[in-house]
Amino acid sequence: MSSVSPGKAAELITTADAHTAHTYHPLPVVVASAEGAWMTDVEGRRYLDMLAGYSALNFGHGHPRLIAAAKAQLERLTLTSRAFHHDRFAAFCTELAELCGMESVLPMNTGAEAVETAVKTARKWGYKVKGVPDGQAKIIVAANNFHGRTTTIISFSTDQEARADYGPYTPGFEIVPYGDLAALEAALDKHGDHTVAVLLEPIQGEAGVLVPPPGYLPGVRELTRSRQVLFIADEIQSGLGRTGKTFACEHEGVVPDIYVLGKALGGGVVPVSAIVSSNEILGIYRPGEHGSTFGGNPLACAVALEVIAMLRSGEFQQRATELGDHLHRELGLLVGTGAVEELRGRGLWAGVDIAPAHGTGREISERLMAKGVLVKDTHGSTIRIAPPLVISKEDLDWALTQLREVLAE
Ligand SMILES: *Cc1c(COP(=O)(O)O)cnc(C)c1O
Repeated sequence: MSSVSPGKAAELITTADAHTAHTYHPLPVVVASAEGAWMTDVEGRRYLDMLAGYSALNFGHGHPRLIAAAKAQLERLTLTSRAFHHDRFAAFCTELAELCGMESVLPMNTGAEAVETAVKTARKWGYKVKGVPDGQAKIIVAANNFHGRTTTIISFSTDQEARADYGPYTPGFEIVPYGDLAALEAALDKHGDHTVAVLLEPIQGEAGVLVPPPGYLPGVRELTRSRQVLFIADEIQSGLGRTGKTFACEHEGVVPDIYVLGKALGGGVVPVSAIVSSNEILGIYRPGEHGSTFGGNPLACAVALEVIAMLRSGEFQQRATELGDHLHRELGLLVGTGAVEELRGRGLWAGVDIAPAHGTGREISERLMAKGVLVKDTHGSTIRIAPPLVISKEDLDWALTQLREVLAE
């Protein structure tokens, strides 16, 4: 019913469609402004944002602290390139490392660039420190991963849509089932001393918010530590408050060798990503061996510094825990009624498999949109719920009411 928007929105969608590559299939809403958890479209209709830019908007739209930090920096200094030092860089690196309990930061812009940086770091570390023969490094990854869109990253994707027609693919990756320690151990055995890293999402977001079985992440930590293999945790979507902790790894008491961060690090204002690790590991780099024109720029650092300060208060993690418990309790009731087949997630993050009789994930998303709630489907019958952590309990409850009504239709 809502797949065709009347008036201005429809016109803008048609024009955009005529002049862009169709790499996305957005819901037919055209957003013009937003504040907190609410967005307003070009025709003045309001929608509750229950996706939060895949966690890029953990702090909501236009958070006053983030906007103020960005504005102040905009007026002073926006870009130097890394050819020169700038006065926000030291604080950014120091404070981000401290937030992570680590020592050193290598800044990039997008998530995919940070994952690429982690891959390059692991390989270089393998050759320089571990003594892997040149060109032989292996990185073990999980099936159904999502780590971004570059040629190397899609080379180790198991999603045919993401991967097909982009070959030849980058070699050097081995894919094992997610959550299966025996399979990981077998892969480590198979490649012997050539394995340099295991790269995982501590919770698989794009796959449908898959939480691994208890003990999996500690098991990965143990296996990697005992074999001198780096554990790289891609916390681009799971990190920075979403699950109720600063990092999803914390729920299992695990500290990886490298955190990969992005999305919420830029506060929904600018793209900011980074890998964060030890001095020993990041100490492998020499000038000229890696870089990015925009990585660690003054504007990015200013916004990220405010994000870090906000996370240090613990307020957002606490909201994610409390509102997340409430969300999962309420969604759990829908499992009881049979409308939801499976519910997964942690904190303010849920993957909800809708019983197929109620429609596809896309259909549910469109019906929710008609009621003023924006979610995103993934893999057929799954919808993903991940509102900004600033959402009020009343608004969350209102969204849940809309979902119950859609499922009762
Ligand atoms: C979004 C995402 C990425 C890629 O980030 P981009 O900024 O879109 O390049 C990588 N890993 C995970 C887990 C993500 O969710």
